Amino acid sequence: MLLTEVEILLPFEPSPGQRDSLCWMAPQAMQMPPRGWCVLEIDSPFEQVVVNNQGWLLRYVKKIVGSQEAAEDIVQETFIRAFKAYDGYQETGRQRQWLRTIARNVAFRYLGSPAAIREVNLCTGDESIVHFIETAMDHVPSAEEVALANELTRRIMEAISKLPEAQRSVVYYRFVRDFSVHQVAHLTNQPVGSVKSKCHYGLQKLRRHLSRYVVEGGFVVNCKDAYAFLFQYAKGRIMPEDREKVEGHLAACKDCTDLAESLRILAANMTPARDGEIRHYLIAIPLSDGTTLNYFGGTSRVDDRELQRMNAILEANGGVIPRGENWTFGIHDANLEHLAEFDNDGHKIEFELVPNPRDPSKVQVIYRKMVKVYPEHIIGSVALSRDKYVTTTIEDPNLVVGKLQNYLGANAKSGLYLAIPAGAKNIRIRRGNGVIDAGAYKFAFSERYVAEDECLRLECTYLKS
Ligand SMILES: [Zn+2]
Repeated sequence: MLLTEVEILLPFEPSPGQRDSLCWMAPQAMQMPPRGWCVLEIDSPFEQVVVNNQGWLLRYVKKIVGSQEAAEDIVQETFIRAFKAYDGYQETGRQRQWLRTIARNVAFRYLGSPAAIREVNLCTGDESIVHFIETAMDHVPSAEEVALANELTRRIMEAISKLPEAQRSVVYYRFVRDFSVHQVAHLTNQPVGSVKSKCHYGLQKLRRHLSRYVVEGGFVVNCKDAYAFLFQYAKGRIMPEDREKVEGHLAACKDCTDLAESLRILAANMTPARDGEIRHYLIAIPLSDGTTLNYFGGTSRVDDRELQRMNAILEANGGVIPRGENWTFGIHDANLEHLAEFDNDGHKIEFELVPNPRDPSKVQVIYRKMVKVYPEHIIGSVALSRDKYVTTTIEDPNLVVGKLQNYLGANAKSGLYLAIPAGAKNIRIRRGNGVIDAGAYKFAFSERYVAEDECLRLECTYLKS
């Protein structure tokens, strides 16, 4: 019954017996210091609500339920519920009434449920539980602890809430509320053996739910975070710390592993620029959620004097580009979600998107911090877009039409690459050069030198299956 209410609670440090079963779940969170529960996201205003009200609430609830232990439990749940509904509710006069209403509802539900009666009986005289609840109320984490644990906690709680009812309560009591197997057996009125097996199967399921986000030995970035780096990774132009992050994710995510491998094959097959040519490209990968992942970029030549000036500025400012300097390496549609920007060697560049005064549908990418400028500066951008590069027709929903167009500038060897799932059939290129077979994906492509005011197009059709 508590499960939907517990998103803000987390056991940071497992008891010694738990460590083995839990270490895969939250390795980084485990290294955090606090013992017991941790009330996440509570900044000072709500903390103050707790401080101001827990005394009288405890007395009030104890009158209703008659037991100190149960009252503590109920007050705690009252605060959890209040916190979830709390949006800076500042009228202190009505705050007491609001908290009293929540507490009364929780207390009455508690008294009415057979599980609650068992719980009260069991808790009486059980010092370890009482102590546990008391210490649980004490700790308020630092902002840093909260930030580190927040995303992971949300994932874990989301995954627990998806377990079948029988496993859910057992896993919750055992691993979130930190009760022993024997205590859980008492609380849920079932044999110790059943608790153990439900914990076992529950954890197995959790592992599957969480495998995209968590692997043994490290907290792993999610797919969207990984997308930012996949093409750099595929090209082998990535900083060691980013490589580590990506590989952590790939170890847990088959989709991204397949995509990274396809991008590696694609990168090896993209026709390089000849001497004196500049290279532009756009790779579009339609994702299952309807958005498109875009890797795009090109090369800018920077003349000697400007190069020296820019690099001198970077050196003098620790890489920060002063406000007066508007170094822009591109303009793109405002509806793109720009995920990342990289240089020749895969250093991440910090940027700001500034509306283009001449055209509100476009934004300018203004660089704010970077390591260095290269004589032939390669820009690698990553973005998600809602544009549909592939569409199906009403007449034949199995028939997909893909269209790409290059807006990346001219006087350069330009390339367009559209990802097609490997299971697709009857791929036909209407405009373009052909198809690169790259494992989990094929890439329809169009490549050629594009002169000033020219546009490169790619058009293809295929059957989904
Ligand atoms: Zn992934």
